[in-house]
Amino acid sequence: IEESEKFRIEYWELEEAKLRRMPRPKPLAGRIALVTGAASGIGRAIARRLSAEGACVVVADRNGADAAAVAEELGGPDQAVAVTVDVTDEEQIETAFAAASLAFGGVDLVVNNAGISLSKPLLETTAADWDLQHDIMARGSFLVSREAARLMRTQALGGDIVHIASKNAVFAGPNNIAYAATKADQAHQVRLLAAELGEYGIRVNGVNPDGVVRGSGIFASGWGAQRAAVYGVEEEKLGEFYAQRTLLKREVLPEHVAAAVFALTGGDLTHTTGLHVPVDAGVAAAFLR
Ligand code: NAD
Repeated sequence: IEESEKFRIEYWELEEAKLRRMPRPKPLAGRIALVTGAASGIGRAIARRLSAEGACVVVADRNGADAAAVAEELGGPDQAVAVTVDVTDEEQIETAFAAASLAFGGVDLVVNNAGISLSKPLLETTAADWDLQHDIMARGSFLVSREAARLMRTQALGGDIVHIASKNAVFAGPNNIAYAATKADQAHQVRLLAAELGEYGIRVNGVNPDGVVRGSGIFASGWGAQRAAVYGVEEEKLGEFYAQRTLLKREVLPEHVAAAVFALTGGDLTHTTGLHVPVDAGVAAAFLR
């Protein structure tokens, strides 16, 4: 090798070493995420994770005060804004997306997470329970996804829609008719939206958590007591009970669900759409209710 060639090789080796040491941009830098139900539990953990990975976050929840606290925690107006929105209300959803566009210039990552549980035994479940449950989770995610698709198609930059469904979307458990049926509806929307939006570069995926007791408003407000009665355990021991019935013997926390949302949207799974990722420490795989 000639001297000049040797010099060139050394020069490029040095350059490459320099590049390896350079700080890399965060994976979600430049992305704008809107997370429904982000004032509490799983949604709040998702908002925190997407923000930590570089996204600007719209914290959307019907509980405006708690949503504002989350937005503040994430760094205030440059990083996160709160919008008060009830996902059963079409106009409020349109306003929320408009507010997001005003704050950050658009939205390209949407997480349908808002939810409640009105689970009861079949004979105690009223038509009003059924309607409200479906209004919030099935109809609400449909409306939010439709608005997301509208905006994402106009932006022509592709995007991600993620549904937080549930293990209960697939497997039947006791005293759960309204909630589980709605989750199944929501879960099938993932495939239907994926089929319709693929050609626009919009990927739609689902996450199926199970047994996220800690931090969950749903568990704290009645669902926990109901499940404890169904399984014959003390409510305080429910987290431990859920952990023990998993294959991994691990409790599922909101952060684990957030990790799945990031895995689906963070940039590596570019060719994955219409998929449901279980975050249940193995409960569904082992067919355990
Ligand atoms: P959570 O109560 O802590 O969070 C739900 C959030 O949704 C709340 O902030 C609430 O204000 C908001 N919300 C409810 N109705 C709304 C509406 N109409 N419009 C806007 N916001 C609304 O409960 P969580 O356990 O964190 O549940 C979050 C999601 O995860 C739900 O969709 C739930 O079904 C799903 N999920 C939870 C578990 C679990 O084990 N906790 C398991 C599977 C799926």
